[in-house]
Amino acid sequence: MTALLETRGLEVFYGDFQAVFGVDFEVAEGETVAIIGANGAGKSSFLKALAGLVKSRPDGILLDGRPVGGKPAYEIVKSGVALVPEGRRLFPSMSVADNLRMGENGRSGDRGWTYETVCDLFPILRERADQLAPTLSGGQQQMVAIGRALISNPRVLLCDEISLGLSPAAVKDVYAAITEIKKRGTTIVIVEQDLNAALGAADRIYCFLEGKVSLTGRADEFDRSQILAAYFGS
Ligand code: ATP
Repeated sequence: MTALLETRGLEVFYGDFQAVFGVDFEVAEGETVAIIGANGAGKSSFLKALAGLVKSRPDGILLDGRPVGGKPAYEIVKSGVALVPEGRRLFPSMSVADNLRMGENGRSGDRGWTYETVCDLFPILRERADQLAPTLSGGQQQMVAIGRALISNPRVLLCDEISLGLSPAAVKDVYAAITEIKKRGTTIVIVEQDLNAALGAADRIYCFLEGKVSLTGRADEFDRSQILAAYFGS
């Protein structure tokens, strides 16, 4: 497997506190990989390092074999790695359309994602384009957050806890969109606490426990008890 995005011995520190310990990880072009694990396992810290939001060593993260660790977030997005942040982080005083168009600032290359193709993926956003973002349901707001990241035309889409706080029906809709995005060739890394959602979407999984990888392999390779043991460290 040739990795599109890779980490080698990645570590993340907050001051003296270490959140991620020596993680080796890779995702190939077109693959969907899920990072699962309990609260505080270091999943978000790992994803933030990939997005350039927390510091890491230059050679800790490689994109197409080139070191990108520690580069600022705006350079990372320009190089084709876009984050859907935990909690969505929409601009509450802006319309749906303007929130989506914020993604145009980080645009790189031409992989077919535009305002129009994002609205084709999420037709409800075209209908609600002029409404303020907070007037949408949680699931619709998550679609805006995903759409905003897609408009930057990423080679790799990083999704942090996109099911959090959503109804089961909204989780289903959001993951149907992830499947469609994957079909169109976008490489996806999802951090997810909802095991069913993660296992349903991913080709491969990495389970994190206390900042380290406790299990990795194909999503269909393990039975539930093996995954739960790696998840909870029991
Ligand atoms: P969650 O699902 O709760 O977001 P997680 O697996 O994503 O959990 P992280 O959010 O990466 O875990 O947190 C890993 C560890 O790093 C935790 O102990 C957390 O308290 C700590 N941590 C996260 N962000 C910071 C920060 N900005 N400053 C200090 N410590 C932090």
